[in-house]
Amino acid sequence: MSKVHILEDDHFHDHCGVFGVFGHPEAAKLTYLGLYALQHRGQESAGIASTDGGDLHLHRSLGHVQEIFTPQALENLKGSAAIGHTRYSTAGDTTLLNAQPIMIDCNKGKLALGHNGNLTNALELRRRLEHRGSIFQTTSDTEVIVHLVARSTARNLPGALADALNQVEGAYSLLVLTRDEMYAIRDPRGFRPLILGRLDGAWVAGSETCAFDLIDADYVREVEPGEMVRISRGGIESLRFAPEKPHQYCIFEQVYFSRPDSIVFGRAVNKSREQMGRLLAREHPADADIVVPLPDSGVPAAVGYADESRIPFRMALIRSHYVGRTFIEPEQSIRDFGVKLKLNPVREDLEGQRVVLVDDSLVRGTTSRKVVRLVREAGASEVHVRISCPPTVSPCYYGIDTPRREELIASQKSPEEIRRFLGADSLGYLSLESLRAAVGDTQGKYCTACYTGVYPTELVQLEVEAHREG
Ligand code: SF4
Repeated sequence: MSKVHILEDDHFHDHCGVFGVFGHPEAAKLTYLGLYALQHRGQESAGIASTDGGDLHLHRSLGHVQEIFTPQALENLKGSAAIGHTRYSTAGDTTLLNAQPIMIDCNKGKLALGHNGNLTNALELRRRLEHRGSIFQTTSDTEVIVHLVARSTARNLPGALADALNQVEGAYSLLVLTRDEMYAIRDPRGFRPLILGRLDGAWVAGSETCAFDLIDADYVREVEPGEMVRISRGGIESLRFAPEKPHQYCIFEQVYFSRPDSIVFGRAVNKSREQMGRLLAREHPADADIVVPLPDSGVPAAVGYADESRIPFRMALIRSHYVGRTFIEPEQSIRDFGVKLKLNPVREDLEGQRVVLVDDSLVRGTTSRKVVRLVREAGASEVHVRISCPPTVSPCYYGIDTPRREELIASQKSPEEIRRFLGADSLGYLSLESLRAAVGDTQGKYCTACYTGVYPTELVQLEVEAHREG
């Protein structure tokens, strides 16, 4: 009997994307388009909440944005304001209950909330709240915020939100919708992006500018770390809800997560990635004939590497964009079946060539090992692997799904051992110093904990140290 083959993906997984519109007659449809552009940030579930001033409407489901929102579903999402969320679960499992936006009716009124990030003290807060009688509907960390808002003694919603958020730790970019207001909020360290824009007099907010481009909205500015932007018919108001903390923008957004056509943390992602490739070529030159990217995410860094080294760029690995998660494999086993479904080498380009193979990151190393074999079998005489970020040695606790530390190849093996594991002729990683330079980080505003193991929040750092000592 044929068996079902689960395709592997050797990347850190994306987290979530948020998008919202306030003051536009087609708010839900525009939010749907925004989520479509942010689909790469989460492909397990999506939802939209809208308001017509009288009530809040909600539609959520498991699956991709395109499948979830039928014309009828969008028709039912009435009103001139909407927020949407697309999700890959980083906390809580993949059930419909955990899909967002979360909607509640509490003493502060009816509200919907969409969260990108991860709260590092959610479990502790949840236990405390349950002890005091709170009943949780989901296993998601986001619900903790909602319970804290409901329990706050503050008289108005901004006060209750500030109360709640000053008790949580970690990463959050939030959109909150009430009957007549929308809030865009970013944690004081600013781990995840959140931006504001305008469209035909309406306000829009979202994770990345690629979503603004699709609906022809104009980029205005980032929501500042520690800022709560309140949008109502009366206009826009900026409130600070937490004291200033050192900024910790996620550097992996620049390396891999965000779309290359987006501007994230005020910087064009494609430009950052090309610069990573250029600096990689300076740090780890190779005597080679062609530069080949691992598509799609390795392309900008490979362009930069080829540019700097003056070695010709070749798209000698072709990616299939139509691959699902599972596949039926024939009885007769095919070597590296999963990788071959996704990538096919162009023999004519590779035959007899010394190849620089550029990828954006190396997590477990298992897929890269197969790709190196694929390239050799297609005739390459040498394969030099170049990675456009430093060795990934530590998991992320700030809204990215990462394997356990033991599964990260760079936490277990030296670069020379990894080279041998991959079967490559040479291996070079971009240094942390150059990565910071490539994203223009002159003031230490980026989080780099997955490369250093030094975490910017106290609770996580203490846990990690206790784990190491234990
Ligand atoms: S640990 Fe890594 S992935 Fe997580 S926020 Fe920091 S830089 Fe980003």
